[in-house]
Amino acid sequence: VNRSQREFDYFALSLQWPGTYCRGTRHCCSKNACCRGSDTPTQFTIHGLWPDYNDGSWPSCCYRSEFNEKEITTLKDGLDKYWPSLSCGSPSSCYGGKGSFWGHEWGNHLQSLHKKHGTCSSPVFHDEYSYFLTTLNIYFKYNVTDVLYKEGYVASNSEKYPLGGIVTAIQNAFHVNPEVVCKKDAIDELRICFEKDLTPRDCVVSKGLTSKKSCPKYVSLPEYTPL
Ligand code: 5GP
Ligand code: 5GP
Ligand code: 5GP
Repeated sequence: VNRSQREFDYFALSLQWPGTYCRGTRHCCSKNACCRGSDTPTQFTIHGLWPDYNDGSWPSCCYRSEFNEKEITTLKDGLDKYWPSLSCGSPSSCYGGKGSFWGHEWGNHLQSLHKKHGTCSSPVFHDEYSYFLTTLNIYFKYNVTDVLYKEGYVASNSEKYPLGGIVTAIQNAFHVNPEVVCKKDAIDELRICFEKDLTPRDCVVSKGLTSKKSCPKYVSLPEYTPL
């Protein structure tokens, strides 16, 4: 456990595009699987709220407390729907399980380098409940899927969209610069960044982004079709 780390500089709300995450894999949950709601995701869903440093790195090894699903029981409906795990492993990777997606994002991992995000978000968040609740609330407040939809950027297996148009749509809506991560030409993640008081700010783009993850000029938003 690293107790001497400096305080983080800002948050990145990392959103995942299910159509890209699940493209061509058998490891995505099928309908009604235990680890997500029964709807087919047609929007960006939450990956995590990540404390970051301005130099592109981030704190880790911040073990504070074991993930305890009981603390977020009252948020379960919202988390199931908007923060689903799309990856179906054993039932223990589902809600409440030791290796669950939520537990992982909180920082409940055996390897110290993976103890990050929620547990590293002090002094802003001191407990699971406020971390998960606030993440849901800013996800609702800054609805990226809606912003893109209004500009005609919708899920499609045939269309390609100009990356610049997508970035401009976000800039016009929220007045900040997002970070876009791609898998080949498909948008994989879209990140909106926040000061510690949760007002929007520019993301630190491309510092940690290898060319493998940076986006080409034209990108796609594939439909959700797990095998
Ligand atoms: P990857 O190696 O797939 O890019 O990232 C693996 C994990 O490292 C992510 O799921 C996330 O937990 C963490 N990670 C990647 N990029 C960032 C970042 O920019 N900020 C923070 N805080 N964590 C990141
Ligand atoms: P993970 O191991 O969580 O899948 O992915 C984290 C990856 O991002 C690691 O390969 C790690 O080397 C890299 N990385 C880059 N900057 C940082 C940082 O500041 N902290 C941590 N924990 N990993 C970082
Ligand atoms: P990160 O990439 O944030 O370090 O860690 C995410 C971890 O949660 C990975 O070990 C991944 O296998 C697991 N996981 C479970 N469900 C999901 C999901 O829907 N999306 C992502 N990105 N990771 C998931």
